[in-house]
Amino acid sequence: MKDAAMISELPVAVIGAGPVGLAAAAELLERGLTPVIFEAGAAPAAAVASWGHIRLFSPWQYDVDAAARRLLAATGWQEPDAETLPTGAELHGRYLQPLAEVPAIADALHTSTRVLAVSREGLDKTRTGGREDTPFLLRVEDAEGTVTDYRARAVIDASGTWGTPNPLGQAGLPAVGEAEAFTAGLITGPLPDVVGRDRARFAGKHVLVVGAGHSAANTLLALGELAEQEPGTRISWAIRSASAAGVYGGGDLDGLPARGALGSRLRTLVADGRIELHTAFTITGFKTSGTLAVIGSTPYGEKQLEVDLLVPATGFRPDLDLLREIRLDLDPVVEAPRELGPLIDPEFHSCGTVAPHGARMLSHPEKDFYIVGMKSYGRAPTFLMATGYEQVRSIAAALAGDQQAADDVQLVLPETGVCSTDLGGSCDAPAADGSAEAASCCGTAPEPALEQAASCCGAPETVTESEPTESSCCSTPEPAFLGIPTGLEHGRSAERES
Ligand SMILES: Cc1cc2nc3c(=O)[nH]c(=O)nc-3n(C[C@H](O)[C@H](O)[C@H](O)COP(=O)(O)OP(=O)(O)OC[C@H]3O[C@@H](n4cnc5c(N)ncnc54)[C@H](O)[C@@H]3O)c2cc1C
Repeated sequence: MKDAAMISELPVAVIGAGPVGLAAAAELLERGLTPVIFEAGAAPAAAVASWGHIRLFSPWQYDVDAAARRLLAATGWQEPDAETLPTGAELHGRYLQPLAEVPAIADALHTSTRVLAVSREGLDKTRTGGREDTPFLLRVEDAEGTVTDYRARAVIDASGTWGTPNPLGQAGLPAVGEAEAFTAGLITGPLPDVVGRDRARFAGKHVLVVGAGHSAANTLLALGELAEQEPGTRISWAIRSASAAGVYGGGDLDGLPARGALGSRLRTLVADGRIELHTAFTITGFKTSGTLAVIGSTPYGEKQLEVDLLVPATGFRPDLDLLREIRLDLDPVVEAPRELGPLIDPEFHSCGTVAPHGARMLSHPEKDFYIVGMKSYGRAPTFLMATGYEQVRSIAAALAGDQQAADDVQLVLPETGVCSTDLGGSCDAPAADGSAEAASCCGTAPEPALEQAASCCGAPETVTESEPTESSCCSTPEPAFLGIPTGLEHGRSAERES
């Protein structure tokens, strides 16, 4: 079977049928390649369906992949209004579900099928000889527990991060008692539907939300609404940082008005005392009885909060276990592909986007293996679907042998204001090798972002991913006019300085 012609007849495996996995399938089909898609959920885009009650902050025009649009257009699909903000449920019902039902995709899609592991047929990670000419092997499990091995010529892992939330404890580890509290049902899943599906669980309860991102903001605002309708509902909010300014966001300066408004409303609820904010609170342990005692260390000593329920909103991390036999090259900080990591490191970046990037930046030592979508951002929380759509367009082109199209990465996001991403010259970001030189801007790595930053505020740009830029970017950080500005200074490093 190590005949190259026979390998090329195998399908390209796509792990996950979320927005980016389905877009990958559409892009592959357009290139004449055959996808096989594995989705763990019982229906396509199971992760999006579970946060269906949340309204997106990016309007429809940024939520639909171009190849998917073309595929759907042939079915008479009515594209939603470009300027409207969908909920997750609308994204699912009006776009992802119809896309999954297009016969070419439906025929390739295996729902209720979880990928357990990816490897090369007959070769573990340490075997090098003939590796690149050997099919991938995907071990999958269906709802009945039947395990099957599939072969593929290439693999695109679009499995997201929704299934692997970060633990609540300090140091990236679960706190003492965390697992027991979760088992006792005192810690919920991320983003519960507190005014809808899960209302009865929250009404009249003292609820603690932990975390400092958009998910926390969404849950807190929903709880605020619930508290107005359900007497006795009490809301506490614990964050590790000394200030919630980062969550309140850029307000009017945010390039996505919906995102800016979210932060402003939250600020008001805290100012009015309807949410009790606990800053500089690091969870060290839990004690479970009928209620939950949350123990935290603070600058003023140990503190204990007694609550009925805790909603975690501490972000997500990629599940790398299933890739144990694959030769990956990941940024040691962010767990994103190595070159992408420094560009999205939350320590230095608050923006929702980086410069467009594709197959070249997302490649690994394992030929024809790619991590895309939310999972490609590793532990960074700022991924946008439109970025993922460009990733998979480029990868499909590369797999089809069209390297020129693969390298011709396009910026498709608006450039409507200042978004200080640090990309223009922050050399305080540590280089991957630990040197003082910032990997994201001062090395010889391909540097599309600089080309973008230099040509800011214009129409969408075309950049070539392949050419390294010799640039003296180690200067004072300048605002980079890139993507969708948050209206904030840059990442966590800015928080510490303020
Ligand atoms: C609440 C919320 C709001 C967001 N709002 C926006 C927004 O406004 N604009 C924007 O651009 N982005 C937004 N995002 C970010 C991001 O674009 C979305 O999370 C998007 O769904 C990511 O798409 P994805 O396909 O990469 O991953 P997912 O949507 O997470 O899809 C991954 C799929 O893989 C499946 N899967 C997981 N593991 C396996 C496995 N081992 N085998 C098989 N299948 C598996 C899952 O069931 C899931 O269906 C938001 C995210 C969240 C959580």
